[in-house]
Parts: sequence; C-alpha cells; structure tokens
Amino acid sequence: MKDLVIIGAGPAGLSAMLYATRAGLSAIVLDNGAPGGKLNLTAEIENYPGIKMKTGPELAYELYEHALSFGGEHVYGNVIDIKDVGDHKEVVCEDTTYKCKAVLIASGTRERKMGIDKEEELTGKGVSYCAVCDAPFYRDKEVAVVGGGNSAVEEALYLTNFASRVHIFIRRDVFRADKIALDKMAQNEKIVVHKLKKPHHIIEADGKVAGIAVIDSNTGEISEVAVSGIFPYLGLLPVSEFAKNLGILDESGYVITDETMATKIPMVFAAGDVRQKGLRQVVTATNDGAIAGQKIASLLD
Ligand SMILES: Cc1cc2nc3c(=O)[nH]c(=O)nc-3n(C[C@H](O)[C@H](O)[C@H](O)COP(=O)(O)OP(=O)(O)OC[C@H]3O[C@@H](n4cnc5c(N)ncnc54)[C@H](O)[C@@H]3O)c2cc1C
Repeated sequence: MKDLVIIGAGPAGLSAMLYATRAGLSAIVLDNGAPGGKLNLTAEIENYPGIKMKTGPELAYELYEHALSFGGEHVYGNVIDIKDVGDHKEVVCEDTTYKCKAVLIASGTRERKMGIDKEEELTGKGVSYCAVCDAPFYRDKEVAVVGGGNSAVEEALYLTNFASRVHIFIRRDVFRADKIALDKMAQNEKIVVHKLKKPHHIIEADGKVAGIAVIDSNTGEISEVAVSGIFPYLGLLPVSEFAKNLGILDESGYVITDETMATKIPMVFAAGDVRQKGLRQVVTATNDGAIAGQKIASLLD
C-alpha cells in the first residue's frame, strides 16, 4: 500500500511527486508513455518562469530526475480504472492493481486530430497544437489554422502577432466562433479565410512542414497552400475515461476540483490539463501538482 499513486508523469504529476515525497510520503507515478508528458512534443519552451529557453525533452528530463530524487518510483502502467473502496483506493492497470491512500489524476489531454497522413510524425516539426507556446517560432512566416470554433479564431488572431499571414481553413461555410472574435478577424488584414476546405494531406520538405493540401467540401478539388506551420484547433479532449465511474467529471470529461485540487471524493485529486480550468500550460500544471502534493501530504500527516 502506497500513500499516493499518481496517474501521469507530465509536469503536473511530477511536481506532485516532488512535493509529496519531499514531505515524506511514499508515492508511485504511473505513465503509459514517456515521462514528461506533452513536454516531449514541444521543441522549445520559452515561457516557463526562470528558464529563458529549454527544449521540451530537456525540461522533461530535469523535472523527472528532480521529482524522483526524494524516493518516489516511476513505473510503466496504462491505467484503466480507479476504485474507491472506502478506506483505500485501487488504481487498476491492464496487468497490475495498485493500492493507495490517495490518488492523483494528472493524465492531461489529447488533441482532436485532423486525421491525415504525417500529422503525428510532423508534430513539433511544423504541426503544433499550441499557438501560445509556438507562435514566436513562426515570426514573418505563413501559417495555417484548421478549425472554425472560438479557439481556432482566437489562436489565428494571436498568431498574427508573429506570422506574416495566417490562413484559416474551415470545412463549413460558417464559423462557430462568437461574433466578437469574428469581427476582430474580419478587421485583421493578415488573416485569409478559406471556407469549405478540409485538410487533405501535409506537404513535407526536409523533415518539416512545407505546406498544406486541402480538399473543397463541395467540388472535391484539391489545392495547396505553402505554410511553415499548421495549427489544428479542433478541440482538446481530456484523458479521463478511466475515472468515468467516479462521478467527478464535467460534461466535457474534465475533472472538477476545488482550489486544493480535491475532487468531491475524499482522497481523489486531479492536477494539470485534465482539470476543468482556463489556462493549460506547463506553469499551471506544475502549480496544480505542487498544491495537490502538499495538500495530500498534509492530510496523510
Ligand atoms: C506542441 C505543444 C507545445 C506546447 N508548448 C508549450 C509551451 O511552450 N509552454 C507551456 O507552458 N506549455 C506548452 N504546452 C502545453 C503543456 O505541454 C501542457 O499544458 C502540460 O504538459 C500539461 O501537463 P500535464 O502534466 O497536466 O499533462 P501532460 O503533459 O499531458 O501529461 C499527462 C501524462 O499522463 C499520461 N497518461 C495519460 N493517460 C494515462 C493512463 N491511462 N495511464 C497512465 N498514464 C497516462 C500521459 O502519457 C502523459 O505523460 C504545449 C503543448 C503542446 C502539445
């Protein structure tokens, strides 16, 4: 029986591990991918306070090493269920079940994909799901945004602070975004709207994005636009299927917590991007993890 089982070794889970084990708890972090989470998908991080620039994998490695330096363990595990059995919890993986006094869900989000060839392969090499993070790398270059909702339009507007031109592709002929965002877009000369266009394939040169080919929803005609970056904004999806039975998710699947990261179930906590929150970034994930780790340690003291 561990004091704490953490699901997800991204910035949130690793920060919680650091705080919890430094306070004396026994803890294990389970991850079904590489430790560091989405940091591994990020070429460069320029907005983590105190670190002017570091590659995502470098920061992931440093967070990981630091987090495990107080006696915590990291084990590969794909979590498929959490059972609340009264005085303890059970975290169920495909092959093993871990018993613990507290659980922290820090499993992040996954992006809704465009579902076209080379999308995975070129993520971090021109395909990015985070304009706030990566826009400065496209200064004076042309980029594409895919999607017609608020985040697509808002991120397209944000990208115009850097890019020379922002092509926005929507598969319908009307946007789903709010009027206020659409009015701003209409006034922005850097944005070129392409309606009734769905991504068809990515054009690659030298291992990087060189353009996007789109198909006309009515005619089926394929056309190409040269861009250095493609930002799909088709929505984020929380990774929380394994917590469905606990009744702690909102209608979109994000975990509802209070400001101490506690859910309504005693000793079940959540931190990072999987939480219902406004800003999903490394700094807010580490913040959540620290609060959760400290809170759990104080409860198990
Ligand atoms: C391309 C890109 C660039 C970005 N750039 C920046 C940037 O420059 N600055 C910035 O601040 N933020 C950036 N972000 C956002 C930032 O990476 C996230 O906000 C942050 O990683 C969230 O941390 P997290 O720990 O909550 O989740 P994640 O980093 O998503 O980690 C969750 C972990 O949980 C694991 N997991 C999921 N399900 C299970 C399961 N069932 N069982 C076991 N393990 C599981 C995953 O494998 C993963 O390792 C970027 C994101 C992307 C995609």
